[in-house]
Amino acid sequence: MQGVHGITKNALVRPMLDHPITSLPGIGPKLSKGYRHLGIETIRDLLFAFPLRYEDFREVKGIADVEPGSSTTVQGTVTSIRSRRSPRKKMMLTEATIEDTTGTISAVWFHQPYIAKTLKVGDHISLSGKIDDGYGLSIVNPQFEKLSLSGQTMHTGRLVPVYSTAGKMAQKGRRNAVQRSLPAANDLEEWLPSWVMADYDLIELKDAVPVLHFPEEQSAWEKAMRRMKMGELVLHQLGHVQAKVEIESAEAEVIRFDEDRIRSFVDLLPFNLTNAQKKAIFGALKDMESGTPMHRLLEGDVGAGKTVVAAAVADHVTAEGRQTAYLAPTEILAVQQATSFLETLGERASVALLTNSYQELNGSSVSRKQVLDALIDGRVDILIGTHALLTGDVQVPDLTLVIVDEQHRFGVDQRKKLLATRKDGMTPHFLSMTATPIPRTLAMALYGDMSISVLDELPPGRGEVDTVLLRPEQDKQAYGLIAEKIRSGQQAYIVCPFIEESESSDAESVTNLVQKLSKGTLKVFTIEALHGKMKPKEKDDVMERFRSGDIDILVSTTVIEVGVNVPNATTIFIEGAERFGLAQLHQLRGRVRRSSEKATCFLHPTTMSGTTKERLKAMVDHDNGFELAEIDLKLRGPGDKYGTRQSGLPEFEFASLSDHALIAQAREVAEKLLEEDPDLSKHALLLAELAQFTERKRD
Ligand code: ADP
Ligand code: MG
Repeated sequence: MQGVHGITKNALVRPMLDHPITSLPGIGPKLSKGYRHLGIETIRDLLFAFPLRYEDFREVKGIADVEPGSSTTVQGTVTSIRSRRSPRKKMMLTEATIEDTTGTISAVWFHQPYIAKTLKVGDHISLSGKIDDGYGLSIVNPQFEKLSLSGQTMHTGRLVPVYSTAGKMAQKGRRNAVQRSLPAANDLEEWLPSWVMADYDLIELKDAVPVLHFPEEQSAWEKAMRRMKMGELVLHQLGHVQAKVEIESAEAEVIRFDEDRIRSFVDLLPFNLTNAQKKAIFGALKDMESGTPMHRLLEGDVGAGKTVVAAAVADHVTAEGRQTAYLAPTEILAVQQATSFLETLGERASVALLTNSYQELNGSSVSRKQVLDALIDGRVDILIGTHALLTGDVQVPDLTLVIVDEQHRFGVDQRKKLLATRKDGMTPHFLSMTATPIPRTLAMALYGDMSISVLDELPPGRGEVDTVLLRPEQDKQAYGLIAEKIRSGQQAYIVCPFIEESESSDAESVTNLVQKLSKGTLKVFTIEALHGKMKPKEKDDVMERFRSGDIDILVSTTVIEVGVNVPNATTIFIEGAERFGLAQLHQLRGRVRRSSEKATCFLHPTTMSGTTKERLKAMVDHDNGFELAEIDLKLRGPGDKYGTRQSGLPEFEFASLSDHALIAQAREVAEKLLEEDPDLSKHALLLAELAQFTERKRD
């Protein structure tokens, strides 16, 4: 019998969840290396590594009816096929003619001569791709597969999953492997309690997983997504509801609210605080006076000035002779924030920097041991480092305040680790900062254990960033404007898109662009690259030289997205802008919203389709992260409706900003569960799942 997904026949041995993927036919040691690189070792891992997106090849047309420019599937018989070297460009071309009852069309593949050996005249095939009318009607570089009697397709004629690949792995091979694994999904045990499944009308995990790989229709996909979202939201809420209970019964150091200290702090600043900043500082200081631990989320758009709020709060803790740890998401930011804390508080606080490559006390380089000793002796008031501080051997005996910047995955158990640093059982105060535009009501539902401050006001004197949407051929014009700005003493960022399928191409695209620029109009300037493949030291060195003005143009990937602060950089040019989500573009634009100079953000798409234009136009018309996040959700077309990742909430794989109702329901579920079974001992499967969820958040 044919299984739903057409695979039961070739599966010689039934795949098992915990078997290695090498138990699948066709996956040997070479291929498994690529899988391991993606964190996939077992069949279970493979099943839970969901597509990045889907190609919408659902539309199957008669050859006579295809239209140029559209993504279409045609099905017919191969009547001719051959490979040849194209005379001009010296590349391998494979050309085939396909015939159905309505007409014929040619198919062309570049650089894939093996196709002429795979397909033969007479083969009945299905092809999906873009229709081109350059030299008569043709379908260019189409995906293809031979049609079986059942007519079932995997790579064409449907919503086709697109996965991350690595090493020698190809999309087709990955799809085949996933499909062969699907029978194992039957062994997945449902870990949500049955009353939850019934009350919220959810489909079971074992039914949801296959649909997410090979959805037949949108409604089925939506049901499957709902199960996955509910699952992760319940786990998330369980953590937060438990945290709330713990925090309410925990004890924390009382930090006196000291008006004189605040006054003298403000005197240290070269500017006046905004009202929003004052309110946030006041809220935090009130929390720290209460004797129970502060547990506060500080939200503010990029450039809203969260750092100074953090500094004010840390300053109060310093005044009481207690210690603060500030955790930044990257080394670049840790270094930047250490500089900024020293600048503001250097006169009255001792500041240490501790990352893998940096160990400093009050700005001077020292050994790691010297920093650790100084922490233990209480000679450090404020410790700044990356989140890695939490996993190391770092002891902060008087740790009284923990500030976490832009870390969405800062889990409950990481907080527990912090508690362990204090021998007297006191819990540190906790301030979490984020630029993710989560509306307040949603934030309250998501993080019910936290109080929330929103910096809804930018510091005065920040001109709006002039956002310019370029046509693909207009890059030279923008380069001219960049040159002018640099001549007047300012600096610029040029950002390259990341390519989601492969990390290594990030570095490549940056390097290529630097090379291209160093030949063009901008070649007289100092241009340097920054990308994730560089060593931390190299990255910091480049950042430092950019900050000090030695570098005019920084060409980078989105590593500059979060928090980098170089006020003299007033232009940002975003290459391949159509590849970024609106929220991300807005973050990037925030990099040049740092001074009162007029700033410009160039959006340079490589192609300009209707939806690209509409989406990018929203960037021109809106300058508010919250609004853009909503628009991003609304503008998603049928194809990328399936790609949840970009618009998702930071710490979730499935849930997104628009899932208000589900978030509230998950909270109800978590509260009910913990009420009747506080330690979840009656829910073994759920408890195991929660442990894994917490574990995942840690890395
Ligand atoms: P973010 O909220 O993105 O972390 P930062 O804290 O890095 O923003 O602040 C961005 C810039 O704005 C910094 O250069 C900071 O000194 C400056 N800044 C912060 N608050 C004010 C203010 N009230 N008035 C003027 N400039 C401010
Ligand atoms: Mg910041």
